[in-house]
Amino acid sequence: MGCEICDMINNEELIIIKNEKIVVLHNPRPFNNGHIIITPIKHQSIDEAEESLLFELMELTKKFVNILQRVYNPHGFNIGLSLKPHMYVQVVPRWNGDVSFMTLFYNVKVVPETVKDSVARIRDAVREYGI
Ligand SMILES: [Zn+2]
Repeated sequence: MGCEICDMINNEELIIIKNEKIVVLHNPRPFNNGHIIITPIKHQSIDEAEESLLFELMELTKKFVNILQRVYNPHGFNIGLSLKPHMYVQVVPRWNGDVSFMTLFYNVKVVPETVKDSVARIRDAVREYGI
């Protein structure tokens, strides 16, 4: 069975930054602009992950919350942790009154920016502010 996260990691267009162990990517089907996923490159569950890796994931999460705050200026963030089979942290910027009628009635979220543009904007911000 395929892994959705591994598939995303193999899609260069989604990648914001990457080091030897961790990749930060934009969700291909975002709930909002700046909906990112921070995940180990190696396919592993949270039980299999080393402590130092978990620490690094959390540190990057904190840094990217700051980056996204500068880029999108949201009211807050929803942050979720998926445990298995491929653990990841997802960060979703949110704005007050975020739920539109499109979401309620059609289960469709209108995201004003394309994923490609979001990736470019966040990459620029990483370059500008560092991480
Ligand atoms: Zn995987």
